Amino acid sequence: MEDCIFCQIIAGEMESEIVYEDEDVIAFKDIEPQAPVHFLILPKKHIPTLLDLKEEDNKLIGHIYQIANQLARQEEIAEDGFRVVSNCNEAGGQTVDHIHYHLLGGRNLQWPPG
Ligand code: 5GP
Ligand code: ZN
Repeated sequence: MEDCIFCQIIAGEMESEIVYEDEDVIAFKDIEPQAPVHFLILPKKHIPTLLDLKEEDNKLIGHIYQIANQLARQEEIAEDGFRVVSNCNEAGGQTVDHIHYHLLGGRNLQWPPG
């Protein structure tokens, strides 16, 4: 998707601080971090929102959670606790239409989110 900023990051056309990458998934630092650790983990495949997920994507999404597990341990936020969250559509707070999972940690997170 040419006009998708996350596809541009994946294609290397736009700069980002990549913290993890494999054939199917990429993770990079959020440009406007809301916590000491704030990464975005996403499939390289352009899936707009959670509502577009298909049965065939189950393995991919499971893989993303395993990467969240790995990154949380690596960043030493695992034991204290952290959050993985995905916003969907406007009222859910989604601003980039390429599915992504926020990994947030390094401070006490409030619940419920605003
Ligand atoms: P959403 O609001 O869709 O849940 O999350 C989108 C996230 O992408 C936001 O937290 C925003 O700060 C981040 N973001 C938007 N544009 C860029 C960018 O060009 N580079 C990076 N690294 N993050 C971005
Ligand atoms: Zn995209």
